[in-house]
Amino acid sequence: MSLVVQKFGGTSVADSHKIMAAARKAIRAQQQGHQVVMVVSAMGKQTDLLVELAQQIHVRPPAREMDVLLSTGEQVSAALMAMAIDSLGHKAVSLTGTQIGIHTDSTHTKARIRSINTDRMQQLLNQGNILIAAGFQGVDEDADITTLGRGGSDTTAVALAAVLCADACEIYTDVDGVYTTDPRIVPEARRVSRVSYDEMLELASLGAGVMHSRSIEFAKKYDVQIHVRSSLTDTPGTLITDLPESNSHVVCGAAVTLDEARVSLLRVADVPGTSWEVFSRLAERKVAVDMIVQNVGEQGLTDLSFTVPCAELESTLDAMREVRDVVAAHQVSHDDQVSKVSVVGLGMVRRTGVAETMFRALTEVGINIQMITTSEIKISALVARSEAKAALRAVHQAFELGDEPAPKLPQEGRGEQLATADVADVLSRLRGVDMEELFLDEITLDQQQARVTMNGVPDSPGVAAEIFEEIAAAGVLVDMIVQSYHEMPGKSSLSLTVPQPQLESCLQIVGALSQELGCQSITHCPHVAKLSVSGVGLRSHTSVAIRMFRALSEADINVEMINTSEVRVNIVVAGELGTRALQSLQDVFADALR
Ligand code: ASP
Ligand code: MG
Repeated sequence: MSLVVQKFGGTSVADSHKIMAAARKAIRAQQQGHQVVMVVSAMGKQTDLLVELAQQIHVRPPAREMDVLLSTGEQVSAALMAMAIDSLGHKAVSLTGTQIGIHTDSTHTKARIRSINTDRMQQLLNQGNILIAAGFQGVDEDADITTLGRGGSDTTAVALAAVLCADACEIYTDVDGVYTTDPRIVPEARRVSRVSYDEMLELASLGAGVMHSRSIEFAKKYDVQIHVRSSLTDTPGTLITDLPESNSHVVCGAAVTLDEARVSLLRVADVPGTSWEVFSRLAERKVAVDMIVQNVGEQGLTDLSFTVPCAELESTLDAMREVRDVVAAHQVSHDDQVSKVSVVGLGMVRRTGVAETMFRALTEVGINIQMITTSEIKISALVARSEAKAALRAVHQAFELGDEPAPKLPQEGRGEQLATADVADVLSRLRGVDMEELFLDEITLDQQQARVTMNGVPDSPGVAAEIFEEIAAAGVLVDMIVQSYHEMPGKSSLSLTVPQPQLESCLQIVGALSQELGCQSITHCPHVAKLSVSGVGLRSHTSVAIRMFRALSEADINVEMINTSEVRVNIVVAGELGTRALQSLQDVFADALR
């Protein structure tokens, strides 16, 4: 018999009418022949109200008690939903996380799921009940209530869909799907019919609301197809699956993260261990670092820049005061008036010219790019906050995101339903390991790249666009791009990697441009090694980058370039160190590689 999981968010259970409407949806699904598991959030803004209440009583409420408190919101919705279904003459049973047996670790207020018991759920479903699970909660080894972090009911829903091998996982919410960007900023934003897990992971971490990031990690890991749709209508929403919407769009979405701050350590010693010293201190303070940009140094010195949420700037600067002397930084600078504009798309892997399109779009509206990082499926540019929304509009327009893609659906990949072979595969992945454990696909070593760095590039609109257009026109395939903040006012430095056979032609172009633009100097390395760690949970497990940096530092390997995304961390080291770097990463992640 087929099974569907239906999750109703806070706005979809905000009052008794909405609860009745949700109950009817579940009953209808049951009448269509499905077993139905509902996952409910707390009613409306109930969780926020509980948080406020706690803060009126205690400035720093104990996390354990927060979980006891916050989990009540979902318990209320679950009970009311069961009553609603009963009132309509159907059988329903509500269960808390503890009653189901959603076992988590003991990290109160942001616990991770370890395992889920399916016995009781199966039994109740087989007796013809609609099952209503209180979202967002679990239980730890000591039988204490835990919660999964704000927005965690999505994760409950996808996790239940995974362990029950559900045929569908429907997320009912107050928006009708996933959009190409925030429609409040860009009215032409379009609802997409489909988005891939990796794209959604990047977009979710960029703040494109809709779904809890960890729920997408779960979905990817256990092959759960998610359908995000409106609880107010019956129109189809957006499928989150392993395939992108189309092959014709290179980019699937654009996002802006408004409240970012840049922090730079200028002229630090370019030696093994610098990144580790810096980022381990931020990890201790639980600061979520993004856009790490390190450019290749000159005369043994390098600049290291990164962005953090504005709210975490103070504790970041504390950490920098502590580390400054350790890494012999000449100066620490910061700017809290910046925003990050990003484009995401699986199509970038196959297509060149994406970076140029983005840079050109920003140039045309006269916006200066302060920092750039690129990864396989994402390009991010840091701009002044006053220009961020204009930047988002320009980029959305340049990639024609408002237009429907050509109706050509991707060919390869699995169909709509989970194939039987996949189920076995999923079940084997569930055995013996914690469900939300870090999961690495692979660690790869690419020895075919060369690196070119331009120092003292004028930091003004249009420069990046010009450089990359000329390089692209010569047919050179640029892989990683890193533009960082430079201590000299009005200058930046730009590093890129290119295939070794194309190094000469790249150097010629860059050499000519450098004269024209009045750059300081050009350095290059004919043979660098690029190491990539890819998998699920790279960013939500904040320790990943730290473990990498520590391993490399212990192996006395200097990191030349870095970029990070949700699904991958790339680093570049000197060519001759490639094999040794690979070995040390394989050692340090032995437990996560399965
Ligand atoms: N009620 C919780 C929150 O507001 C969990 C959820 O809705 O997903 O964060
Ligand atoms: Mg939510």
